[in-house]
Amino acid sequence: MTRRGDGTAPSLQGLVALVTGSTRGIGRAIAEGMRAAGAEVIIHGRSDVGARAVADQLGASWVAADLSSPEQVSRMVADLNARQIDVLVNNAAVELGGTLENTSQDDLREAFQVNVFAPVEIVRGLLPNLRRSSRPSVLFISSIHESVPYYGNGAYAASKAALAMYLKTLALELGPEGIRVNSIAPGAIATDINREVIASIGEDRFSRWIPLGRVGHVWEIGDVAVFLSSESASYVHGATVTVDGAYSHHLVRYRAPSHR
Ligand code: NAP
Repeated sequence: MTRRGDGTAPSLQGLVALVTGSTRGIGRAIAEGMRAAGAEVIIHGRSDVGARAVADQLGASWVAADLSSPEQVSRMVADLNARQIDVLVNNAAVELGGTLENTSQDDLREAFQVNVFAPVEIVRGLLPNLRRSSRPSVLFISSIHESVPYYGNGAYAASKAALAMYLKTLALELGPEGIRVNSIAPGAIATDINREVIASIGEDRFSRWIPLGRVGHVWEIGDVAVFLSSESASYVHGATVTVDGAYSHHLVRYRAPSHR
């Protein structure tokens, strides 16, 4: 292990990072941050066209797979087997809002397929790649809703809670091999996933629910992702880092519909 503690910026020089869901939003910011920190980046998107377009802009390579399809996940992992991959960021997720009565079994299955089964399968499939690495790490992008309930979004919150426990278990299993596993639990970050919710509430009003007084920027997750994937975080393992401006400590947002 390289001796650090010298106050230099986290570096990913010499590493190859695969970031799922990096065509936009938080995933793209993570990919850009990792590239800036010296990593070679592999962009992942649902479609060839979308992934290739972003990869061309960032000077990266790309892979495509719809994570709601187990077959496409298996094919992508098999295609990646010969490649160097040191840093795996499982970021892609789907948020299918709906109360119990408005959530079908298919919605629930899709949430768990994309948000839990696919990332776990990708870790399993890329274990040989990670084992060949001198500085392997896995990062999951979870949510504060892995532990804070989310009215009208049970499928999403439950899938993130499942992922949270899988992360802790993987830390026990992979730690002895030197493969670090961590996660980031973002609060409200301005992306496509919550644009409508924030707009419907009004950003000023929404921001007042957050102790830091504002919604977060995608690069504020990207910077933490770079740190956690670097040697600067060499003893951080099995951890969930909350990046939410203390939003999760301030639960004024919930109002039962009958009380609104
Ligand atoms: P986003 O802007 O909606 O981007 C989602 C990304 O995931 C896109 O690149 C999308 O690819 C990909 N994706 C979605 N479904 C997919 C599928 N079935 N197969 C392959 N790729 C798929 O979302 P985001 O806000 O950046 O969220 C990124 C992560 O942060 C997620 O894990 C989310 O749960 C978490 N998070 C976000 C917030 C927030 O406030 N934004 C808060 C907490 C946690 P395409 O472009 O091909 O659709």
